Amino acid sequence: MKVVSSECIILKHQDFRERDRLVTFLARDKGRMAGVARGARKLTARGLSTFEPFIRGTIFYVEKPGAELVSIRKCDPVPPYLQLQAGYDKFLYASYFTELVSLCRIGTQEAEPFFLLLAGGLENLYGAQSPQALPLLRLDYELDFLSCLGLQPQWGRCCACDRPLLASKAGRPQPLLSGRHQFDASLGGVRCPDCRAAGHALTELSAGSLAFLAAWRDDAARDTLRPTRNALAELEAALTQHIVHHLEREPRSLALLPRVGGPGSV
Ligand SMILES: [Zn+2]
Repeated sequence: MKVVSSECIILKHQDFRERDRLVTFLARDKGRMAGVARGARKLTARGLSTFEPFIRGTIFYVEKPGAELVSIRKCDPVPPYLQLQAGYDKFLYASYFTELVSLCRIGTQEAEPFFLLLAGGLENLYGAQSPQALPLLRLDYELDFLSCLGLQPQWGRCCACDRPLLASKAGRPQPLLSGRHQFDASLGGVRCPDCRAAGHALTELSAGSLAFLAAWRDDAARDTLRPTRNALAELEAALTQHIVHHLEREPRSLALLPRVGGPGSV
């Protein structure tokens, strides 16, 4: 049987039968895959750690025609990812980033963008200098995740009446309408103050939050901008609503993330 290899990120693992481990991973060339690492429950701690979530490395496996599970031989990790679990907050965010990807069907066509998304997200978490940086990394990751899914919300125009919501003044996006906007997850966009509605898929969004996001998405300005706590909380709520709406379930790791304005938050 031919052993093949892929660059991979481990998404999760669970015990399987008496001695084995079921490992789900994202292969850069093939997408989300799962396989059985035989005897992995009996490995030494060092051997076992190569199948821990967030590990990036090269995985060696055998594919069987018609079988959903591959037979995993080993995974050779790339060192920096082994240390990600050192910080608890980073661990929680990494769990969320990884779970979002593991909840998606990812085939060969989408494999590369999702691999780069997750690898970049984990790398940014690894390099973060303080817990205060983590909520912004989450925002960044969620926006890129939605782009990978082709579900990036329409931020610049009202999703109900199509009116423009932002204008550029002195090179910076400025809100055109004062008053409370709403994010509508079911329509995948923003409702202007005149199109406010009632419903469970709606969250509040101020004009300032909208303007911050538009400015912040411009890479050149990104490092100079910091959101207010209110903007961060509103954008976090809107994106979470949007993601949960489309995944049709709430990622389990989401409940463990520190909330903006709550204990342990920025
Ligand atoms: Zn409108």
